[in-house]
Amino acid sequence: MTATAPTTTPPRKIRIATASLAGCFGCHMSFADIDTRLLALSEWVTFDRSPLTDWKTVGECDIALIEGGVCNAENVEVLRAFRRAARILVAVGACAINGGLPAQRNHHRVEALLTHVFETDRHLAPGSRVPNDPELPLLLEHVHPIHEIVRVDYYLPGCPPTAEVIWTFLMDLLAGREPHFPYPMLRYD
Ligand code: SF4
Repeated sequence: MTATAPTTTPPRKIRIATASLAGCFGCHMSFADIDTRLLALSEWVTFDRSPLTDWKTVGECDIALIEGGVCNAENVEVLRAFRRAARILVAVGACAINGGLPAQRNHHRVEALLTHVFETDRHLAPGSRVPNDPELPLLLEHVHPIHEIVRVDYYLPGCPPTAEVIWTFLMDLLAGREPHFPYPMLRYD
């Protein structure tokens, strides 16, 4: 079932921000899978900070779509900034909802993982060390779903959520309807 677009033009363009934290950009790709409907969407919304725009900081916006869990200090900072800026914050995809596949690292100590990848792997050049430049964000001991850091208003399940789910969700919000997904539209893989 395809959602219907808003019947009346919103009084002002809805402002949407998007972010990828510990994500793979697959949820953003699924968003792009709405294909030519992006043209229709551009009539109703404008984009704030997003991998699709050049805004470096997030400004006040109506909807924040967050892909990815939280794996490092920078993710925490960005997520909190999006929460402060957005009226509605949405966890998009399995990683944002429950940490997703990256959370499999929670079975190991982060120090052991870093040492293995950067120092003891047999393919490394002699003398390789774990990167320690202060510009690099420190990894958290565990990968977290975003609701462990900030309040979340909606969850879009799937890895990634389908383009139909993303489209239906946005059309519902733009039309002022409570988002609703028919059962066949939902998936967690
Ligand atoms: S939910 Fe899946 S598609 Fe989305 S960021 Fe995570 S791994 Fe990528």
